Amino acid sequence: MNGRYSRQVRVAGIGEAGQAALGSSRVLIVGIGALGTHAADALARAGVGRLWLCDRDVVDRSNLQRQVLFTEADADAATPKAVAAAQRLAAVNREIEIVPHVADCSAAFLDALPERPQLVLDGTDNFATRYLLNDWCARAGIPWLYAGAVGTEGAAMVVMPAGPCLRCLWPEPPQAGDVGTCETAGILAPAIAAVTAFQVAESLKLLCGRDAEVTRGVFTCDVWRGSYQVVATASAPAPECPVCNRTAFPALVAGAPSAVTLCGRDAVQVDPPRRTPIDLDRLAASLAHAVQDLVRTPHLLRFAADGVRFSVFPGGRALLFGVQDPLRARALYDRWIGAC
Ligand SMILES: [Zn+2]
Repeated sequence: MNGRYSRQVRVAGIGEAGQAALGSSRVLIVGIGALGTHAADALARAGVGRLWLCDRDVVDRSNLQRQVLFTEADADAATPKAVAAAQRLAAVNREIEIVPHVADCSAAFLDALPERPQLVLDGTDNFATRYLLNDWCARAGIPWLYAGAVGTEGAAMVVMPAGPCLRCLWPEPPQAGDVGTCETAGILAPAIAAVTAFQVAESLKLLCGRDAEVTRGVFTCDVWRGSYQVVATASAPAPECPVCNRTAFPALVAGAPSAVTLCGRDAVQVDPPRRTPIDLDRLAASLAHAVQDLVRTPHLLRFAADGVRFSVFPGGRALLFGVQDPLRARALYDRWIGAC
């Protein structure tokens, strides 16, 4: 064993055996933004042997305040986040394999991975992808780690294949407008650091085979108030949870939201599958202070943000003008409209 990991090996829960286990581990991180860059940085330095980084978006200036692997040069070049992160981490640890995936995380993407990851980390900014990870990991028998942060608050949780899962706690994803986003409520970098500290520590336990020491419950924090706690959850899955009962995996049959470039219009249509109509009034209220040119008509909601003009319809369908790349459009849709 070289000296690179000497301080980590001395930690009682790791040891030589744990370090060797980390070196042969396969971990997928979905979403390489604030959460994902913090977690990827820590896991690469810890010596996780194979890291797969999945993100569909590109670096921009507003990312640099908290997305720790990116530079001004990445923002100027609009480098895909997965690629920029992989380049940075290759300079940190060339003894491990880092594979960037510039892709939308869908069930098809996960199914097409050449090998199953041993662990999946949530670095996303939307609940549609989290429920997809929840259902796919349960079906695959893989643990995953939920994490989210907005404003000065954060939350994280280990989801084991036997449950309780995210659906046990919240049977349906929150609706657009119910939860703040980094665009509407802002985000303080230490909130990211706090939740990813929990997420990474629990990941290291799982990868070292220390399942019995995994923290059960939901870690929550408010770094401005200085409050940090683990809120207990039921030890068994909810009796009616379809995923934990293995009777249905709703996110795997719902179909991926489609994003289609509209020929000759410099526009993309994003049309997510949705069971309930979107409440445009509530969405308008949540966006009021964060976007420009907000107009509510009887039929739709219009606004401008990130240099793109949005028209959102009650069914959740949206037209994004001033963008042509479908992946970019889906990222902008999730950022401003939320994904349900
Ligand atoms: Zn469940």
